[in-house]
Amino acid sequence: MKKIKEIVVLSGKGGTGKTSVAASFALIAGKDAIIADCDVDAANMHLVLKPNFAHSQVYCGGDVAVLNQDSCTLCGKCKEVCRFGAVDFSNGRYTIKDLDCEGCGYCSHVCPSGAITMVERKSGDLFISHIKNGSQMVHAKLSPGAENSGKLVAQVKTNAGRIAGEVGCEYVIADGAPGIGCPVASSLSGASLAVMVTEPTKSALHDLKRVLTVAKRFNVRPLCIINKYNINSDQTAVIKEFIEKEGITHLADIPFDSSFVKAMGQAKSIIEVDSKMKALLEETWGKVKEIAQTV
Ligand code: SF4
Ligand code: SF4
Repeated sequence: MKKIKEIVVLSGKGGTGKTSVAASFALIAGKDAIIADCDVDAANMHLVLKPNFAHSQVYCGGDVAVLNQDSCTLCGKCKEVCRFGAVDFSNGRYTIKDLDCEGCGYCSHVCPSGAITMVERKSGDLFISHIKNGSQMVHAKLSPGAENSGKLVAQVKTNAGRIAGEVGCEYVIADGAPGIGCPVASSLSGASLAVMVTEPTKSALHDLKRVLTVAKRFNVRPLCIINKYNINSDQTAVIKEFIEKEGITHLADIPFDSSFVKAMGQAKSIIEVDSKMKALLEETWGKVKEIAQTV
């Protein structure tokens, strides 16, 4: 069986067109790719790919302390040790403030009467869906304020890889989160290639440099697309110089086009509303596939 190639689309900075590119690749790849929406804090690929939410499962990212009043002897040790101020004492009884509890388990460990137990806390939902191109997509929704998004990304990717193996797909296309936090590190772990979508602004170049550092740490080969390249030719030249110096493969320059706005308004991918963009992105996905065979 061929090794599954995992292509992660990243940007460092939000708003560069990362998800538009990832959704276009997904539609072009069709049944050759399973899609993983790894931007679990602000997932939005579902707006374009129209998943059917066929299967869902609860995601638990950590524990929360639960105090049984009947067993509590009011010794106060739990409040003494909690560094997060999550144990409250009022009206003659101790209680745990759910939202402040970090799930460290210290209170449960020191409680002399076994009144505190640690239970799994629901942190979100994971979905496996069929999408409009006939393929499948793994996506998730992190609960508001929930942590451990890196762990959820790992679960999204693991499921996408498993399904790709089961149905004989050669690729997993992952839409990564912006920034360089845990979800990005998690989406780069074990990836074959990182397609970085940037734009000709100083802040985008700054963030491109940061995400490139993370990709290097994970030994993932970076490729680059300059989106809206024609809005600032001087800055585009600066980015080209940078990526050449870094030995990053320059995949494509995508022009700014009002079709992007039109596509967004219709909850569609750019390739569904603009034939020139479709041809450009098909050519770009072809290059990605060729390079993926070499890693
Ligand atoms: S440590 Fe246990 S027994 Fe003591 S106050 Fe807390 S819950 Fe009650
Ligand atoms: S589990 Fe940790 S954070 Fe939560 S109440 Fe106990 S000591 Fe505090």
